[in-house]
Amino acid sequence: MIALLMSTGARAFAGFILPGSRPRSSGNVSRGCNDKESLPSHSAIDDLIYLTPTSSDQVLLCLNARYCQDEIYTRAGSTLVSVNPFKGLPRLYGTTVMDEYHTGTATSPHVYQVAQQVFSCMTSPLDDIRNQSIIVSGESGAGKTVAAKHLIKYLVTVADKKQPSRESSPSLRGMGTKIEQRILDSNPILEAFGNACTLRNENSSRFGKYIELQFSGCVTLLSPEATLQRCYFSDSDLLGASIQTYLLEKTRVAYQAEGEGTFHVFYQLLSGFPVELRDVLIPKGSPTFNAAPTHNRNKEQDAAKWRETYKALMEIGVSEEQRLGLFQILAAILHLGNVDLCHDPEDEDVCVIDEQTSGILDIYGFESFDSNSLEQLCINYANERLQQHFVRHFLKDLQECQLNRASDPENLQSRISHTLLGNRYLGLSRKGAPAFIVKHYAQSVTYDLEGMIDKNKDNIPVELIDLLQESNHSFLVLLFSQDVVLSHAPGKKQTVVLSKFKASLDSLMTSLSATHPHYIRCIKPNSASKPVHFDPKYVMQQLTACGIAEAVEISKKAFPARMSYAEFLQNFSLLLNSDPTPAAKTRSEVIPNKENEEVYEPLELLYQRQIQLTPRRKSLAPRQKLRR
Ligand code: ATP
Ligand code: MG
Repeated sequence: MIALLMSTGARAFAGFILPGSRPRSSGNVSRGCNDKESLPSHSAIDDLIYLTPTSSDQVLLCLNARYCQDEIYTRAGSTLVSVNPFKGLPRLYGTTVMDEYHTGTATSPHVYQVAQQVFSCMTSPLDDIRNQSIIVSGESGAGKTVAAKHLIKYLVTVADKKQPSRESSPSLRGMGTKIEQRILDSNPILEAFGNACTLRNENSSRFGKYIELQFSGCVTLLSPEATLQRCYFSDSDLLGASIQTYLLEKTRVAYQAEGEGTFHVFYQLLSGFPVELRDVLIPKGSPTFNAAPTHNRNKEQDAAKWRETYKALMEIGVSEEQRLGLFQILAAILHLGNVDLCHDPEDEDVCVIDEQTSGILDIYGFESFDSNSLEQLCINYANERLQQHFVRHFLKDLQECQLNRASDPENLQSRISHTLLGNRYLGLSRKGAPAFIVKHYAQSVTYDLEGMIDKNKDNIPVELIDLLQESNHSFLVLLFSQDVVLSHAPGKKQTVVLSKFKASLDSLMTSLSATHPHYIRCIKPNSASKPVHFDPKYVMQQLTACGIAEAVEISKKAFPARMSYAEFLQNFSLLLNSDPTPAAKTRSEVIPNKENEEVYEPLELLYQRQIQLTPRRKSLAPRQKLRR
């Protein structure tokens, strides 16, 4: 998803050298933060478009120099580059700094600067009042979520400040403040249930989300986890918000890679749960939970986070009954994690509970005794119905779930090899377990086929839904509501994960193309997530993958503002003497049309004049800039 949003163009540019420096090969140009001698002249360059030349090496050197000065933000033309400091930098954030960006007294590159640009687009009468988008990208641990939090905080804060209308209407003002608080409150909940410790990030987001901030008449849509933010504005009264999540990594509840953890909420529950409730749900003497191994966890921190999550649940209006229901389900999942299954010694196709050490419901199974009566008739009838249901669904799934046509990874691989023939972006792995390779924009990735079919189905067995619907636990029944049942009804077309995901991406792309995009590119300075450590090779890989040097080069050559004739005329046609009819044409339609040149010439001039009114700062050599 991130890759689809990161299109930075071709990567073939001439290499020039920065005045006073020698060309060097990639990976050798930058220094660690202890060797600052060669770095200061670069640290003053806050926009990479001032680098001459704009080679990857020079970009690396500049980012390195700035990083060592705790200048983590650098502009790259219209893109903001953010290098994760992995340490607190309080001087960079807070309401005072927000004010400085809002009033225009602060001009250095910053995540607030991007948020302010988006905000300005909505409020400036001259600006294009199109939907705005901020696309935040970067690898795991690069700082996307943190950047998104700063963006949201900024947007809700300035939106709250700006309201003369609210001052005259106390109820509206109160409503805005409440919404803002709820938006901020949603974050601990989403992180508790959707973030986990991984090898690359202790607080890794394991789901995508869209947060819609609804401004008067318009909407702001933010999706930091999907590295996307869309903001629709026409005014700055915050009236509502909604959050949509997608593709939660559900398998993490049952299985985590070595050294990784399950979702934070389980650890929070174990460390922070009130004793009286804990004794009921997690009785003393309970075994340790396989689903949430607590070694390497900071229990005080988990307990503190629990209090934050609990408070947020109350604030956003989750009732006491629902909260209790939620905790019971979380405890049940922990207990279930301790249940081991094994093959039935009498029937290889059947599995049984290995050791009944744990919160287990079971449905009566097929029964056959020496003497069977009405009870067995009913029980076996029920089992018969369930079996029919299962067979019908299972066979249906086989026909609808394309990946399922090959029932094992080897078969799937041979089918895929047939399909992939001649596609230069796809290939098959030649060694080891069945796998295929996709050449992504950043690098080639090998995908294991083992388990992919089941994961793609994402199917909840009908028997399980039926069983859970019978529960006397009202919250559980609510979770497996009629909607879920209907989506699994016999004959209903089951949508596989990949097609669901593709559909949501398609709609995302459609929405995105109608917005004015702003980009934030997050860079992880080292793989160990350490502060004050800039690993040139590691950073260079990321810079190359996103083609930052090329993007800068293109930014240098392009106008700072881009708009079609139609949009331009909408704003500036008042200045024209002639008839602005050509407004309907777009720039690309107009330029090749020789016949119309005379008609459009004034427009072209006017267009250029407007550009001169808001010129990009002239590209200065770094030394000139320093002198200035
Ligand atoms: P993932 O894709 O795994 O969700 P991410 O890109 O969202 O990763 P974050 O969770 O935002 O990464 O950042 C990882 C960690 O880096 C944070 O928990 C925090 O410790 C640190 N960090 C990120 N940005 C900053 C910042 N601006 N200042 C200080 N520390 C930061
Ligand atoms: Mg994240």
